[in-house]
Amino acid sequence: MTAPDAGEAPAQRDRAAEHAFEPLPEADARGETVAPTRNRVRNTPGNTPAEDQPGESDPPSSLRERSVLEFVARLRLVPLNLVHQSLFAGVSRQIAGRIVGRMVRRGWLRTWAESRETGGHPTWLYTTAAGRKIGLGIVLDAVKGTHIERLVSAMLPSAQTRPLDLRPRIVPSFLRHQQETVTLLVRLAVANGAIWYSAWDRPLPQGNAPIPLPQPDGILVLPGGTGPELVFLEHDRGMESPAHFARAKAERYAELAVRPELCQQLLGFTTFRLAVTVENFRIHRLPMERLVLLARLLREAGAARDASLSLAGWANWWPAGTVWCRADEPFEPKSRPAAELQDPVLRHTLLCPAVQPGIVCACRAQLDPPFAL
Ligand SMILES: [Zn+2]
Repeated sequence: MTAPDAGEAPAQRDRAAEHAFEPLPEADARGETVAPTRNRVRNTPGNTPAEDQPGESDPPSSLRERSVLEFVARLRLVPLNLVHQSLFAGVSRQIAGRIVGRMVRRGWLRTWAESRETGGHPTWLYTTAAGRKIGLGIVLDAVKGTHIERLVSAMLPSAQTRPLDLRPRIVPSFLRHQQETVTLLVRLAVANGAIWYSAWDRPLPQGNAPIPLPQPDGILVLPGGTGPELVFLEHDRGMESPAHFARAKAERYAELAVRPELCQQLLGFTTFRLAVTVENFRIHRLPMERLVLLARLLREAGAARDASLSLAGWANWWPAGTVWCRADEPFEPKSRPAAELQDPVLRHTLLCPAVQPGIVCACRAQLDPPFAL
């Protein structure tokens, strides 16, 4: 198997490198641009140094720091490795770690060290309350006046949302799901030239909406053939009962899909796509059966028309490839494990134009990924 142009292979972590990537406590950042007039260290007599207590008027001055804060605020809880891969092209892990370490000391970010049974101590990043406020401000500024301003401001976590508070050695129950979701989101976003993506908790504001809204794991705005397309990502780890998937997801997406005016009013888009990825490395011994089950639940709820499904491993490996099937024409669980031949007729890109079953689409012409998945 060879990796396509769309990106790197799924992360194979190097334990030594991961340790080298820990933020260094004593270090100061070098090798980045800092605007000249801001953020000089000011010590107040009898008080904590100002750098540890950034106020509202004390946002990061360097572009690099601002982009890190925006990225972490947008994805909520992010492995440091992913921050490095996404924002620090050409910068060593040590330098990236020092920049992040300085942001931690200034009170914008927190780190959390995961301790894996298999070894390694990956570092995760999340924002402090002050950091989140600044980060969300940067997020909103970046979309102001664009056609996604309504979507982003509607989803923006409110100041009342409690910031994450992770304790040493206590692994949050959602950690693996979060890792897989943000990794997939970044892969899909980069490969498909995303205009926007986020992984906020409960992103769709219920407010006065007349129907219970679904709460996607991730949201992407991708450039489609006829303009920007809104894509909701649901990443499934097989922990959810079929009844719950039907009630909390399939039925809610189906209800929202038949209300274009409500979508427009809430999100600034009249339509959306639903992308469902099924975890296939650790949890599911039978991921294809799970995929077929979820496809059936989507069909039964009436949410199949604009829904695509894939195995998370395939979507991660070929984020722009023909590895998605429609819910009304799902892959077939031919053999176990799942990574077997799949009928190319069933394979589409994520943004394949919605067509009726049986109609040949342009995806067929693509040669990548290979015939045998
Ligand atoms: Zn297609």
